[in-house]
Amino acid sequence: MSDTLEHVKCLIIGSGPAGYTAAIYASRANMFPVLYQGTQPGGQLTTTNDVENYPGYPDGITGPEMMIEFQNQAERFGADIRHGWVTKVDFSGPVHKVWINDEKEILCDTVIIATGASAKYLGLPSEQKYLKLGGGVSACAVCDGFFYRNQEVVIVGAGDSACEEAHYLSKLCKKVTMLVRRDVFRASKIMEARVRNTPNIEILHNTNTLEVLGDGQVVTGVRIKNNISGEESEVPATGFFVAIGHKPNTDIFKDFLDLDETGYIKNIPGTAKTGVEGVFVSGDAADHVYRQAVTAAGTGCMAALDAERYLAAKESTVEA
Ligand code: NDP
Repeated sequence: MSDTLEHVKCLIIGSGPAGYTAAIYASRANMFPVLYQGTQPGGQLTTTNDVENYPGYPDGITGPEMMIEFQNQAERFGADIRHGWVTKVDFSGPVHKVWINDEKEILCDTVIIATGASAKYLGLPSEQKYLKLGGGVSACAVCDGFFYRNQEVVIVGAGDSACEEAHYLSKLCKKVTMLVRRDVFRASKIMEARVRNTPNIEILHNTNTLEVLGDGQVVTGVRIKNNISGEESEVPATGFFVAIGHKPNTDIFKDFLDLDETGYIKNIPGTAKTGVEGVFVSGDAADHVYRQAVTAAGTGCMAALDAERYLAAKESTVEA
């Protein structure tokens, strides 16, 4: 077989908890999985400082360390972990085709998608600076809220996620200031009512973020502007949470799989199966609700088990 064409039993796309868990299960089931890591090996968790809610790590662990442990565990059972970016797929025929870096073509008996989702950020230089420093910018209240106990935080957004996260933070923090860019919420009425009825959440409508303020190491506040009056002010805060939506990393699959209106891959409920035989999905690429490392790992396991059963059924049909 040429250097640019390869045939694999199980190709896993993505290297977060879903992808690595799928790789652990698939390699233990003798499926000889090949996993492509993408451009951010370890996925979203590599932008999280301390993970304290993943069972089995009673003292917590940093996101990057945890992902190295996942990778080591998958490699221990023989998973072939590779650098590379999947640029194109073709799921139209009996054998699925996947291209790496627009060069190498792989023929796959099964494909497990674990490409995750990316949190959207405002894109302000000050926000990106403190995000990279791990100094108080986060897109996940459930992951990082605990570090701001009894402190004052700001959250941007007015969708269901922002409401859910603001409410979660309100139980930990002294005060939560919610910055809403319009005079109305996008969230469902019930979620909006919940934040409005929470005494330590202050909602500032028609408000944009101008700058995340800090001392060079950690966040100390947020400079804001009322987009009606033009008035600028500062809100003291040690944490700056962004909850303006996520984008699932599913663009390359859209011609072959059913996606919902926001781009999440539709799976057959209760399984990791997609509408295409032999293609399975796990983790945040199909989950806009839970989005946790532990749920991603769980669905990675489901995808590998579904793939194994699919291959076994196919092989027994061939033998019969
Ligand atoms: P949404 O797209 O629903 O909401 C995004 C929010 O962020 C909007 O209020 C939007 O403002 C605001 N926003 C976007 N860009 C900016 C910006 N640059 N500056 C300031 N604000 C900005 O995303 P969600 O993540 O909240 O929800 C995604 C989907 O998941 C929805 O369908 C939601 O219902 C669902 N979901 C359901 C949950 C549940 O049922 N428990 C929990 C969480 C999410 P604007 O309105 O002005 O555009």
